[in-house]
Amino acid sequence: MTNQTPYDLISQMDGMLFIEGAFRKGGGGRLPVENPATGEIIGQIAAATKAEVEEAVLAARRAFRPWARQLPKVRAAALHRLGDAIAADALAMARIMTAEQGKPVNEAKGEILKLAEACHFYAEEATRVHGEIIPNEQPGFQSLVVREPIGVVGAITPWNYPAELVGWKLCASLASGCTIVIKPAEITPFTALAIAAKCAEAGIPAGVVNVLTGKGSQVGQALVEHPQVDKIAFTGSSAVGLHIQQSCPQVKRLSLELGGNCPMVVTASADVAAAVKGAARRSFRNCGQICIAINRIYVHRSVYEDFLTGLGRAAEALSVHNGLERPDADLGAMASGEPLAKTRAHLDDALARGARLVAGGKAPEGADYAKGHFFRPSVVADCTHQMLVMTEETFGPLVGVAVYDELSEAIALANDTPYGLASYVYARDLTEIQTLSAGLDYGNVAINNVDAGIMNAPYGGRKQSGVGYEHGREGLLEYFNFKHVRLHHGVGA
Ligand code: NAD
Repeated sequence: MTNQTPYDLISQMDGMLFIEGAFRKGGGGRLPVENPATGEIIGQIAAATKAEVEEAVLAARRAFRPWARQLPKVRAAALHRLGDAIAADALAMARIMTAEQGKPVNEAKGEILKLAEACHFYAEEATRVHGEIIPNEQPGFQSLVVREPIGVVGAITPWNYPAELVGWKLCASLASGCTIVIKPAEITPFTALAIAAKCAEAGIPAGVVNVLTGKGSQVGQALVEHPQVDKIAFTGSSAVGLHIQQSCPQVKRLSLELGGNCPMVVTASADVAAAVKGAARRSFRNCGQICIAINRIYVHRSVYEDFLTGLGRAAEALSVHNGLERPDADLGAMASGEPLAKTRAHLDDALARGARLVAGGKAPEGADYAKGHFFRPSVVADCTHQMLVMTEETFGPLVGVAVYDELSEAIALANDTPYGLASYVYARDLTEIQTLSAGLDYGNVAINNVDAGIMNAPYGGRKQSGVGYEHGREGLLEYFNFKHVRLHHGVGA
């Protein structure tokens, strides 16, 4: 891959599906894919037909038993090879991602390398899955709890992290002994197809990994409804997650990683400079198109103006460019016109309701930006709990800031949301830290840092942010059924 342009690589994957270990042209219609920085159409994906969905699911079903029976060390070796193959081509894969998603190449490369790391992490975990022996009341009996892979996984993913969100599900499937059919987002399909090419290169057996492109309402829904798909691993919006839960015609395992509306609390004891740095990073990275992005910030009155001045300056200092041309830019283009329109709507709503614009508030100016979906990182202050920026997920480079006087008030506002994914705290006082970490009703709380998710700790949301976990032992266990074997061996009877 290394010497070819992203457009050459994308044209080789044009209209392709990956079924039973081989690429082939899809037999149905085509959907265009845009470079969000230029508005150019960079390729077409196949809209997989019902027959192609059937083929992929049945290929995954046939591959399941042989893959599940492999020794864990064999699956671990395959994952290590996959991690090496991905890392070796990280730059070329990153450029494909930038061409379809917009994030700057250096950031995209970081994501690809994290996927490679995930492969190695799950390779190790594959060899450490073990059951339990439970004491029985009666002599001569023993209860064994055995872990068995669930079967065929249907993975449905969004566009904001086109490698990692596919990769975590892929790695957990490979490590556990499941097989997988992946349906990536319509607007970022080529990264997933590039990962499929790496699976073939790494010698993952045919049928263990399959990639189908197409619309969520057709291909995604067909996976949800397919009786031979044992588990759906979904990352995306809460609305589609709920629809999947309600429309699933059979009882099947579901893990749903959904939307967020993540708060940050900056207390009177906080290191304000560190809080500013953390807020700028977690509000604007990937143009704020992150489920764990900081949407809204509650700042104690004593440090409010200092914090705002710092955050305003930090936002203004961030560079926005075409991410292919400027790999080191802080922000690239937003992934499509949709999140850009929502960001503008949330900004307009806040300003109309009396918020103060502290930074950004517009697209960058100049011919380079004319055809793409660009927006400057933006900060609005003096926000109230009536504004959309405080109550809904913006999923764009916009953050709302509000002042508070009592910590209890900040906690109540932070928790007053249907979401419960991630929350952030900057404080030095231990009582404040303890009060916040216990009081915030979120699956993840990051204190004096903004990296809420790490590979070896469970990551998941509460309330409308989802069910189930990714990462850590808990994430891997989502891919297993437990079997209770009650053994009467007679000894001691
Ligand atoms: P989306 O829900 O619109 O789409 C996600 C995926 O679902 C896509 O592949 C889409 O094609 C598919 N889909 C759509 N309709 C479907 C249907 N009826 N049946 C089956 N599949 C269907 O989300 P999006 O706009 O791509 O992504 C943004 C959302 O994802 C945000 O809300 C964000 O918070 C969330 N997200 C959550 C996490 C997390 O870990 N909790 C991570 C990243 C993104």
